[in-house]
Amino acid sequence: MQDAAPARSPAAETPARIHADREAGSLHIEWSDGHVTDYDTVTLRWMCPCAYCRGEAGLPGWLDTAPTLTPEQTRLTDVTLVGRYALAPTWGDGHGLGFYTFRALRDGCSCAACVAARGEATHGAGSGNSGGRG
Ligand SMILES: [Zn+2]
Ligand SMILES: [Zn+2]
Repeated sequence: MQDAAPARSPAAETPARIHADREAGSLHIEWSDGHVTDYDTVTLRWMCPCAYCRGEAGLPGWLDTAPTLTPEQTRLTDVTLVGRYALAPTWGDGHGLGFYTFRALRDGCSCAACVAARGEATHGAGSGNSGGRG
């Protein structure tokens, strides 16, 4: 009966530890509530929320054109903390305009528990709502 998102404590959107492994191409986040999120850099690159990648004012962004990303474009070279709310990764092609908010990073967590909580379970849950985003 409950289909609202579960309440999340502020700790769930506060990283306790962030580790970017440039060689492995991964970003590891440990949250203050004990949860752990791992991103591969390709996934992370596709999430770039900047106006160039995502578009603005109703216009499509670069990522909306489904470009083929080069290895340089998905190579994480640096990660900068933006205030207390976001991370700004810098990429091998020099791109680094995207502020990935902690909330978005937590929302995008792809661990089994989070996927299940978002109702994206692999086996049909039978609620009938199988439509993707068009
Ligand atoms: Zn971008
Ligand atoms: Zn998770």
